[in-house]
Amino acid sequence: MKIICVGRNYAKHAKELGNDVPKTPVLFLKPDTAILPKRNPLYYPHFTKDLHHEVELVIRINRLGKNIEERFAHKYYNEIGIGIDFTARDVQQQCKEKGLPWERAKAFDGSAPISEKFLKVSHLPENIQFSMRNNGELVQEGQSNDMLFGFNKLIEEISQVFTLKIGDLIFTGTPAGVAPVKIGDRLECYIGDEKLLKVDIR
Ligand code: ZN
Repeated sequence: MKIICVGRNYAKHAKELGNDVPKTPVLFLKPDTAILPKRNPLYYPHFTKDLHHEVELVIRINRLGKNIEERFAHKYYNEIGIGIDFTARDVQQQCKEKGLPWERAKAFDGSAPISEKFLKVSHLPENIQFSMRNNGELVQEGQSNDMLFGFNKLIEEISQVFTLKIGDLIFTGTPAGVAPVKIGDRLECYIGDEKLLKVDIR
């Protein structure tokens, strides 16, 4: 099982970090050890002083495939969940400046909490609304229609590089509003009005 993440998939978020809007999806991977065990807190990693939340819709793949055309991509998933792509922003900035890979900043243990429950695509609206609260305060909200590359286009692009297997997860990118977290924070993630994920920072 692998976790494929998409960077800069919302124009406003790309701009808030001073990046250009990409012509092809920015892709990176997290290992399975990045999944935060259910109901565990995330312990603030010692190697960063600027840990950021990024709330993202997550696709779970349910069929083996490669070189999938966009028009057939909907056959490869039927559930969407929500997750957090935790990012050590200071470490990522150092990696970017040196032209180095991002794994130290994004692929560490616990950096990918994922909701236990996924929602059936057939029960979701075409334009999926999602949001995150930190200590009860709304900090990020987005809608899937704002993605530069939609779910099916992402599957087309990703499956040209990586064979998709059953259980693989795709983090589809974060909307604007990424911000630092601190010890004691409680993050809660919603699709529509339904709270699907809670993570405490310890
Ligand atoms: Zn992200």
